[in-house]
Amino acid sequence: MKSADIVVIGGSAAGVPAAVTARRHYPDKSVILVRKEKQVLIPCGIPYIFGTVGKPENNLIPDAAVTGAGIELVMDGARSLDPAKKCVALESGEVVSYDRLVIATGSKPLVPPIPGIDKKNVFVVQKDVDYLRNLMSTLDGAKDVVILGCGFIGVELADECKKGRNVNVTIIEMLNHCLQIAFGEEACKCCQEVEQDLASKGINVITGTRLVEVMGGEKVTGVKLEDGRKIKADLLIVGIGVTPNTELAEKAGLKVDKGGIVVDTNMRTSDSNIFACGDCATKFSFFTGQPSGLRLASIATTEARIAGANLYNTRRKNPGVVGVFSTALGGLTVAMAGMSEKGARSCGFEVVAGEAEAPDRHPGGMPGMSKMWVKLVFNKANGELVGGAVRGGPSAGELINTISACIQNKMTADDIATFQIGTHPAVTASPIAYQLVNAAELALKNMR
Ligand SMILES: Cc1cc2nc3c(=O)[nH]c(=O)nc-3n(C[C@H](O)[C@H](O)[C@H](O)COP(=O)(O)OP(=O)(O)OC[C@H]3O[C@@H](n4cnc5c(N)ncnc54)[C@H](O)[C@@H]3O)c2cc1C
Repeated sequence: MKSADIVVIGGSAAGVPAAVTARRHYPDKSVILVRKEKQVLIPCGIPYIFGTVGKPENNLIPDAAVTGAGIELVMDGARSLDPAKKCVALESGEVVSYDRLVIATGSKPLVPPIPGIDKKNVFVVQKDVDYLRNLMSTLDGAKDVVILGCGFIGVELADECKKGRNVNVTIIEMLNHCLQIAFGEEACKCCQEVEQDLASKGINVITGTRLVEVMGGEKVTGVKLEDGRKIKADLLIVGIGVTPNTELAEKAGLKVDKGGIVVDTNMRTSDSNIFACGDCATKFSFFTGQPSGLRLASIATTEARIAGANLYNTRRKNPGVVGVFSTALGGLTVAMAGMSEKGARSCGFEVVAGEAEAPDRHPGGMPGMSKMWVKLVFNKANGELVGGAVRGGPSAGELINTISACIQNKMTADDIATFQIGTHPAVTASPIAYQLVNAAELALKNMR
């Protein structure tokens, strides 16, 4: 029998930072990380293996992230766990005992119950090197690719599948716009620009209708839409979301609901020695306290850093999910944090918004300049920031993280309008036209 003070199950966005944080906070404790795969993909980089980075092997979390932190890496599947005896049974027959356990078993892709979905050449987006290698070689031989789902994954996949391939790509979304779930209808300026970018690359974007049937014999030959249209396909990729991987916890008698393994704000499960984090764990909204279905690597790592720090002393509290997304297509970056204006209203908030657009360099003729548009949404009752959207060049990806920090720290429109910023012609907007500050000022004007 193997033994460690702390055992972490899962080697991805949640498991690795949970183990590393545990080592940092409790350096005298031994840590074992158990993961079932030999190589772990960087989950967010998966779309890019089909184009930009070229193959799954170029998109891996290095083992040194674990072993370099003094953590023992065990490549084996966890078959079952026994909370009473405080041990985990592995697929190989080995048993590992623990004092504290972190479950970070992630999620599995959702497979919609559509007739014909089990046909050959229908793939989901599995975080598995061999599976993706097979998908890639099918893609290399394909002529007509259909992608179901136009969220971040679908959009990025469509863009990457086209790179270096003479292939027809169609993307199907039941909502009216790509990325609509993230941005809300009123920020669909962003969604429309993404749709235009995809169309300009020859990608056929079909929105506002459902895929109702996968056609063909053994292999997919096409898909049928709710509106009666039929689209040719020799490859269908489904990217419509995930479901938490809770099997191990459920069998061990831990409390589980449809949102995942039930955890408190310390990331502790129904067993006081067992913590859970990442896609497998329940989430709640930062704004409403209601259950949240968001599953992101950025959320997984935050939760992991809370779980890892709390294993022996309660040091951190989960404030709930803010929800921060970004994606980039060519030169265009779109990003969103917190609630959209419409989303906030539907949660009962009275809100007011401000928008500002300006070059992200000054003067605007500086090399690398992109026009950057920022929208901020404030709670009218207390002036606090509850959401933001950014559209622009690569700098939009970091600005949205600043906006998330403002939301998490409950900054008001006045706080943001008088925010002390650092600016430089080569890397930021001008201090006079600084979009974040001006969007807050304009929201204040609208508030009065
Ligand atoms: C294509 C794609 C693109 C994405 N892009 C982004 C993005 O740009 N930004 C973002 O924030 N999020 C993104 N996400 C979401 C993000 O990938 C997930 O939220 C994140 O991977 C969750 O991490 P996790 O560690 O909780 O779970 P997972 O990544 O699912 O990892 C679970 C780990 O547990 C292991 N495991 C499971 N069961 C066992 C067992 N029984 N024994 C041993 N090991 C086990 C698995 O092998 C794996 O190592 C993307 C997801 C996909 C699929």
